Amino acid sequence: MIPAAFDYARPASLDEALTLLARGAGSAKVLAGGQSLLPLMRLRLASPAKLIDIGRIAELRAIRDLGGGATGIGALATYRDVLDSKLATHNHPILAGAIPGIGDVQVRNRGTLGGAIAHADPASDMPAILLALDASIVIRSGSGERVVGIDGFFQGAFATDLAEDEILTEIRLPATPAGAGMAYCSIEQPASGYSMVGVAAVVGRSDGSISSARVAITGVADVAYRATAVEKALIGSDAGSAAIDAAAAHATDGQEVSSDFNANAEYRAAMAVVHTSRAIEAAFAAAG
Ligand SMILES: Cc1cc2nc3c(=O)[nH]c(=O)nc-3n(C[C@H](O)[C@H](O)[C@H](O)COP(=O)(O)OP(=O)(O)OC[C@H]3O[C@@H](n4cnc5c(N)ncnc54)[C@H](O)[C@@H]3O)c2cc1C
Repeated sequence: MIPAAFDYARPASLDEALTLLARGAGSAKVLAGGQSLLPLMRLRLASPAKLIDIGRIAELRAIRDLGGGATGIGALATYRDVLDSKLATHNHPILAGAIPGIGDVQVRNRGTLGGAIAHADPASDMPAILLALDASIVIRSGSGERVVGIDGFFQGAFATDLAEDEILTEIRLPATPAGAGMAYCSIEQPASGYSMVGVAAVVGRSDGSISSARVAITGVADVAYRATAVEKALIGSDAGSAAIDAAAAHATDGQEVSSDFNANAEYRAAMAVVHTSRAIEAAFAAAG
């Protein structure tokens, strides 16, 4: 289908984009790589009156060294940019493991990390990965900048903490805790690559027991979530498979598990447990 008519602007700077967005008063939408927004417009599930194409604002594409193992990833960095960044993949190896499984070459070349998390598709991979990495999100509007923790950022299916006049500018990843390893395990919808279940784990070990754990799950509920009951059960336990399996059994605690034509709730819940075990084991295997 052909999208409804819309106005188009391509600002040269972030300030110009923010001014245009404020003037758009809810009827304008930011366009980054277009991999989610344009299909929605073609299906007429979205019909913004104006598109503000931020795709060529170079300052939003940088991947920066924040020192001490922390990394800043500009909102417009594409999946390909991140894969090509030795800094990002060295500091946070889960990115190198997970990104090749996202979409196809076009999606990875055009799709941006900022767009992926602003869109907040419940089956998207990056929300779980960024939750496990304890990311911070930098957000700008005409009235200034704010930095929010990832834990409160995703608020529901396709809903985030972003207001209509705000632009996500950077994703900040803190240094990995000493001795921690990380991994992402997913079961994908074969055609799109979206996760029916995706589990990201960052776990640390000290003196033979688990000293830190962040485990996050996507594709299973309306919104990606931290599996806090899994984390609680893991911390202090030995790294044996019985302890990991016992913790993973809590993968969907407190969640309303989704059911759709790809997978019913029972199957998703079972796969969430299996992939939580696998992600934790793989994270351990990768730990220093
Ligand atoms: C065929 C196909 C397969 C895919 N497979 C996968 C997959 O396997 N796993 C997966 O996780 N994803 C998958 N995706 C989704 C893909 O990851 C996202 O479409 C892409 O990352 C979105 O980024 P974008 O730059 O294209 O965003 P756009 O489509 O340009 O924008 C998406 C939304 O985010 C908003 N937005 C974008 N950037 C900003 C910003 N900086 N600040 C505020 N709002 C912003 C837009 O207004 C819009 O609402 C797939 C997509 C396609 C088309």
